[in-house]
Amino acid sequence: MIQLYIPLNFLGVLYREIRQSLTDIERMFGLMHTHREIADAPDAHTLPAGPASVRFESVSFAYDAKRPILFDVDFDIPAGSTVAVVGHSGSGKSTLARLLYRFYDVQGGALRINGHDLRSLTQDSLRAAIGIVPQDTVLFNDTLYYNIHYGRPGASREEVEAAARAAQLEDFIRQLPEGYETRVGERGLKLSGGEKQRVAIARALLKNPAILIFDEATSALDSRTEKAIQAQIELAAEGRTALVIAHRLSTIMNADEIIVLDKGRIVERGRHAPLLAQGGAYAQMWLLQQQEEEAGSTPTDRDDEH
Ligand code: ATP
Repeated sequence: MIQLYIPLNFLGVLYREIRQSLTDIERMFGLMHTHREIADAPDAHTLPAGPASVRFESVSFAYDAKRPILFDVDFDIPAGSTVAVVGHSGSGKSTLARLLYRFYDVQGGALRINGHDLRSLTQDSLRAAIGIVPQDTVLFNDTLYYNIHYGRPGASREEVEAAARAAQLEDFIRQLPEGYETRVGERGLKLSGGEKQRVAIARALLKNPAILIFDEATSALDSRTEKAIQAQIELAAEGRTALVIAHRLSTIMNADEIIVLDKGRIVERGRHAPLLAQGGAYAQMWLLQQQEEEAGSTPTDRDDEH
């Protein structure tokens, strides 16, 4: 009996893990109920592990042929650097992330990692190279340990603890009476937005991907929380190639390049200070966010306070 139980139990765990990570990713990309038809090419090859440079090469894309979303989008994320994408709601920021994860194929141009067209790679090797810190992390109704561990199911206890430490979760976990065994999720301890994001970062660090997609939450936050998020983005992105989808400009001031998208087109690009000095779309967005902050018109989210 026990011989049967172990493999069945293993399958159950595996099933839960696969379902959960799909839920996470689908939620992040808002892909619930969408139909996907991406398949590996018959001669698809594995993306070799190691540092990765990303290239969006004149990318054009439409979900629906009648309504183009991206036009000739062209930029690089050199290995180890951070590129942030900003722009109004609906400008196409998340679409760039969906294309990088290859939920869809581009219709014009190409997307490359270390020169390999994404369409020539196996999806497994592509997705193994990419970690995601989603806007809203889905926590599994299980222990904190379990929730971090599924970032890489084969990881050892030491590796899980090291990832939690690196994501600055250790102090928080230590003060919980049940520590790593604390149950979280809908039926357990409710974590704050910031704590959930740290769990997502710990998962991503455990997976240790060459490429990181950081999807910043849209909700407005107070400036102290924004500083904490900026530090978390920088921590998670360290030593990786990072694409940050940013909603608050103050969190991406240190990005190596900022891409400003407007209705699917790059309208400005550069680092924070020169973009401000340019006095264009970015400077306008910055001014508006500053004014909103000063007027206190943004709802304060104190979730992240400790
Ligand atoms: P936000 O800041 O609000 O998250 P965004 O810049 O990330 O916006 P996208 O999510 O990339 O914008 O969406 C770009 C455009 O594509 C929007 O007009 C959106 O309605 C459309 N769109 C997104 N997903 C789909 C889909 N699955 N099918 C059809 N249209 C879509």
